[in-house]
Parts: sequence; C-alpha cells; structure tokens
Amino acid sequence: MNDVPYELLHKYNVAGPRYTSYPPAPSWRDDFGPPDYEKLIAESNAAEAPAPLSLYLHLPFCEKLCFFCGCTVVITGKNHRTEEGYLALLRKEIAWLAERVDRSRPVVQLHYGGGTPTYFDPERLDRLAEALHGAFTFAPDAELGVEIDPRVTTRAHLEVLRKGGFNRLSMGVQDFDPKVQETVNRVQPYEATRDLVEAARSLGFQSVNMDLIFGLPFQTPESFRRTIDKILSIGPDRLAVYSYAHVPWMKKHQRVNEPKLPTEREKFEIFRTALSRFTESGYEYIGMDHFARPDDELARARRNRTLWRNFQGYTTKAGTDLFGLGMSSIGGIADAYVQNQRDLPAYRAAMERGGPATMRGFRLSADDRLRRVVIQNLLCHGVIVKTEIEEQFGVPFDETFGDALAKLEECREDGLVEISDREIRATSLGRIFLRNLAMPFDAYLAAASEKPMFSRTL
Ligand code: SF4
Repeated sequence: MNDVPYELLHKYNVAGPRYTSYPPAPSWRDDFGPPDYEKLIAESNAAEAPAPLSLYLHLPFCEKLCFFCGCTVVITGKNHRTEEGYLALLRKEIAWLAERVDRSRPVVQLHYGGGTPTYFDPERLDRLAEALHGAFTFAPDAELGVEIDPRVTTRAHLEVLRKGGFNRLSMGVQDFDPKVQETVNRVQPYEATRDLVEAARSLGFQSVNMDLIFGLPFQTPESFRRTIDKILSIGPDRLAVYSYAHVPWMKKHQRVNEPKLPTEREKFEIFRTALSRFTESGYEYIGMDHFARPDDELARARRNRTLWRNFQGYTTKAGTDLFGLGMSSIGGIADAYVQNQRDLPAYRAAMERGGPATMRGFRLSADDRLRRVVIQNLLCHGVIVKTEIEEQFGVPFDETFGDALAKLEECREDGLVEISDREIRATSLGRIFLRNLAMPFDAYLAAASEKPMFSRTL
C-alpha cells in the first residue's frame, strides 16, 4: 500500500463525494421543512425499537479564519459578543427537541463541532453541558467528543469539559511548519499542542485525535515529514490526514492559497510520506484518510465490521439516530437526513419564531437505502458481500448493479479491487481509493457532476 504508483494517484484523483451521507447533501430537497422534521421525530419514537440517540452541536465561531477552512464558520475577531446570544438559541433548540424526543432513549454519543467549541469560555461550556444533561438521558458509557483548537484552549476548558462527561478530544494541527502555518493564517506552536495533550491525558480523556492536512501552501514532503515526527512524539490515538480540499468556487478565501500550492506530484509525494510513516510507526490505516492505533476502538470496529460512517466521519456507534443542533447542523434519523439553516441570521430568525430551523432534508427511497448500505460496506469494511445484500434487500446483486460492476472493471484491472461471485473486496492498494470504488454505486453522481460540487479525491 505504501508504494502507490503516481500514475494511479493521478488517474483516480477526480472530484467525488466523501460519502458522509448517501445520497450526498447536494441532492437533498429544499421542500423538506419543519413539519417534516417533527413528523420524522415522532416516527423515530414510534419505531418498534427506537434507536439510541447521537447528538451533534455546531458551535460555529472562530476568532481568525484559517485560509484552508472549508467549515461553516462565523469569524468574529476578539469580539465575543454573539457568544451568549447563540447559546440562548441553542438552549431553546435543546428544549424544543427534548420536548419531542422520547426521553427514555439514551444518548450514546455527543459531539461538539465547529468552528471552535473552545471559543466559548469555560463557564458557558459548563452551562451548555448542564442544559444537555438536564434535557436528555445519557448512557453511562456514552462517548462525548469535542473539537478543540489548541490556540484558544486552556486547562480550565479541559477541566470543565471533563466535568461535563467529555472523554474524547479532537484537535486540529494541520502542519507544524512555521512557513506553512503563517501562510494559512494559523500559527500553532508544537509545544502548546503537546502540553495540551498531556493536560488532557492527565485529566482522564480516553482518546485524542489529531487532524493534519496535506497539500497546503509551501508544504513539501520534507517539511511534512518533520511535522509527522512531531506528531509521532505526541502519539495521538487516532489521526485524520485529510487532503486539502481546494474548492474556491464555494470558499472564496481559499484563492489566496493558489500561487503557493504544491504541484499534484508533490502533493502525492506528501501523501505517500504520511501513509508510509504512520503505518510503519504502528498506526492502522482505517480508510478515507483515517489512522488509528491497533488497540483503538476504531481499528477494532473495522476488523469486526461494526464501523459506520456519519457526518463526523467514521464512528463506532452504528444504528443511532443523529440529531443536529445549531446553525447548519445535520441530522440522520432512520432513513432520512435533515439540515438546519446554514447561516446565523436565518438560524436565529427560525429559533426566535419558536423553531425548528430546518432548511432542507431528504427521505431515502428503497433504492437509496440499498445503495447506502453497499457504499457504507465498502467505505467502512472494504468489502461488499453480495449474499448479505441480497438477503437484506431481496434483490439479485449482479443484476441490480450490472452498471456499477462494469464501471469497476477498470479498477479491477488496475489492482484496486477483487471481484468474485461472492464479494467485491478492495485490495490493500484499493483501500487508498475507496471513494473511487464507491462512486460507481452512486445513482446521483451523473446529475451532480454537471457543476463543480465536490473536492478531488486526493
Ligand atoms: S479553526 Fe477550524 S473552523 Fe475555525 S477557521 Fe480554522 S479551520 Fe475553520
């Protein structure tokens, strides 16, 4: 896997979805509104065995914009005056949801994403956790995770988060090289990052994830190797090594990066450096940019085929109903998706009218459900067992997916996938190209490819 040929990297470096949902968000419908969301919640309570809950809170504020950023973010500078007002809206939305969701359904997962959740001061984060614990029933072994930015996170933040039951941290690093950091407007010293991880471990956080990005301006294989060495000296439990998604037609601020970006070949070399250094240092490649220590839950779930993918990436909590809270947040409930208003004024207006702030959504058809499971199996387990799909959905696999199988032929010839009567299995090399292997099963891609929507796969 570590010697991925450049020719293949180049050939399969095409625009495609990341499949945190199927169908991907651009195919969702604008005529799905608040009444549809209420109905969906009622249906989920009435299910024969209501699913446990997963909650996602979007805390969108950051003081400074990183020039690679692709998140839905509100940049405020040092002025935090919107902080309290936003929390009031969130508390309103928490109360709205708690009135409708059956409280006997346990919360098994909670995630704060952003923006920068630790932009909020510790006292406010404390009150937010109290509101959630007061509104819902948390399972004793619930997984509570938070994205933190070491530049603005203090020990007091970590203490308050631990008190609120948080046991997982995810932190952005991206790159430790000073020139890269300056160019992307994110100066984050190694020592401060290392000290924060040490503080988190001493406070009892069970798992620390770090995010890196390859393909940033001025990055070289050598500079990234130095970053990797520093990361290895900190030794996080999990790593996400993302390809820089350059989408200036959606994120105009990214244009400043253009003159200094590495060439495609340099970017591939950086990727190969990361892949070989991390796997040689004992991390398992999970797929889709993620690495984990072999004893980490994520690695175990991949081996046991219990891994799942949702809007935060890979998760070990399959089978939950995910409810999103906050502007732009996304939920995935049974066979439907739902998204809140994407900008702050629209979210505020909706919540001030009493909520919810639903902007769009999607109910999956029988064909969507089938394809979702096929794509998930490929992305999470690297294999589709045809008989399992046939038994679950009552369809003949080879006939149903004749088109997809024909499109996969080229991938098979390139050594990315093995196809037999029984299964479709990504090879060790093919696990680098899981997005490409999933795309033939996507019934929406042809319509979506008419205008630029997705980043490149590498
Ligand atoms: S800290 Fe994260 S969310 Fe905020 S601007 Fe930087 S990349 Fe975007």
